[in-house]
Amino acid sequence: MSDIQSLLKTLGVPSQKGGDLTVFSPIDGTAIGQLRQHNNGEIEGVIAASQSAFKQWRNIPAPRRGELVRLWGEELRHVKEDMGRLITWEVGKILQEGIGEVQEAIDMCDLCVGQSRQLFGKTIASERPGHRIMEQYHPLGPVGIITAFNFPCAVFAWNAANALICGDPIILKPSEKSPFSGLATLAALHRAIENFGSDAPDGLAQAIIGGVDQSKELVHSPNIPLISATGSTEMGRSVAVAVAQRFGKRILELGGNNAMIVSEHADLDLAIRAIVFGAVGTAGQRCTTLRRLFVHSRVKTTLIDKIKTAYASLNIGNPLNENTLIGPLIDRQAYEQFQAGCAQATSEGGKQLIGGERVLGEDYPDAYYVSPSVFDMPGQTACMKQECFTPILYIVEYNDFDRAIEMHNDVPQGLSSCIISDNMREVEQFLSASGSDCGMANVNIGPSGAEIGGAFGGEKETGGDRETGSDAWKNYMRRTTNSINYSSDMPLAQGISFGD
Ligand code: NAD
Repeated sequence: MSDIQSLLKTLGVPSQKGGDLTVFSPIDGTAIGQLRQHNNGEIEGVIAASQSAFKQWRNIPAPRRGELVRLWGEELRHVKEDMGRLITWEVGKILQEGIGEVQEAIDMCDLCVGQSRQLFGKTIASERPGHRIMEQYHPLGPVGIITAFNFPCAVFAWNAANALICGDPIILKPSEKSPFSGLATLAALHRAIENFGSDAPDGLAQAIIGGVDQSKELVHSPNIPLISATGSTEMGRSVAVAVAQRFGKRILELGGNNAMIVSEHADLDLAIRAIVFGAVGTAGQRCTTLRRLFVHSRVKTTLIDKIKTAYASLNIGNPLNENTLIGPLIDRQAYEQFQAGCAQATSEGGKQLIGGERVLGEDYPDAYYVSPSVFDMPGQTACMKQECFTPILYIVEYNDFDRAIEMHNDVPQGLSSCIISDNMREVEQFLSASGSDCGMANVNIGPSGAEIGGAFGGEKETGGDRETGSDAWKNYMRRTTNSINYSSDMPLAQGISFGD
């Protein structure tokens, strides 16, 4: 049995021979395994089982629901290395990042265990004597979780851990490009459910396999009150309309187009570390990847020299090897987008400073490794306003700080942003109401690598919603306002007297 087949077996997700979905490894383009896609009738059955599970799960006390999530975190700890390795096989990110993704899922479980004891509402002063008003948060119902290929474990865990403590069953629709990693994360949850006992109903955590068609069955179902979908803006546009039409709730985590301002007051050594990881980590295939760099003219030449030096030492290759820093693109389509992105930047007056080539083609004829590209742009041209989900970094020079912020915000997306500066006025302006318009704004760190304690998400075409920590759990619950009269009178609000 090959390495990957035994890995799948260890993680509880053996490939289904003869399945109609073949999954390929971006490392060498070989088939990892096959899965059978769900048909419409089966999806209806999954949704019905989820609804029935909801009736039991919503009545289990929240801290007890938290215990299930604690067990899930424990299961993930046991398989962290293997899970990380599977993510590397399936997504192509380097082993450290694969393992880091599993750690993020574990962290989320830890956070949600504590959160399960703190799903509180407010008590509000009533204007009526002998009355009290309170708000309660109640379980919402089945949650459909649609994930993108690049974070198959963590994004599922962010959503599922929150949903489960909030009393909601979950249905995962993993990306058709990386379903095994999602299924392995779910298999760990199933082991936790087994240890948890009979308080966990059948149908509490399920998956459907397939692509856009299967996804749409979830999106259109009136029996799934919340759809949490991660992926491209194009996908989000379609999901937003469909869910709104049936008055469902949605969490959309869509494309980013993240920028950094490197000021004349920046610590350039610090900047370079943030730039390199931000721009080439996961081969530029993170929603928070650094794509646009606004650099003050006084430091531009020095910074570009440093970037060239740093890029020249990056090891591109098989992500399973310890010394590799950049793995492959997910597939041929991504490579074509990379080529098109580089060509467009050139046609818009950009000067390619480094990279932009397919590499290792002889070793891996069916895989797509590229040298990350850096462009010196004459200004923020059209190509910089769209997300090209590959490792292309555009540099634009600025002289006036206000203009840098203006260019920074002048894109349709609004996920993550950062400034490298030791100047307090610049930093505070960047974080102020007239500064960065993104969901996340960082100081002296790069745009990627968010911690789960803070709410994660972005504005504008990134979707406007939030997942993970802070008060994101509220998205997975319904709120009810309760007015209680403990007097023997019946006073009406707003001083109205009605037929007295
Ligand atoms: P994608 O949009 O192609 O697919 C994502 C998921 O949506 C898949 O499971 C797919 O089957 C499903 N899908 C696609 N079209 C759909 C439709 N019309 N209706 C319902 N479901 C549909 O995205 P991808 O290539 O897998 O991932 C890359 C994208 O995801 C990038 O744009 C990236 O920025 C974004 N992303 C965002 C975040 C975030 O948190 N903001 C995180 C990871 C990735």
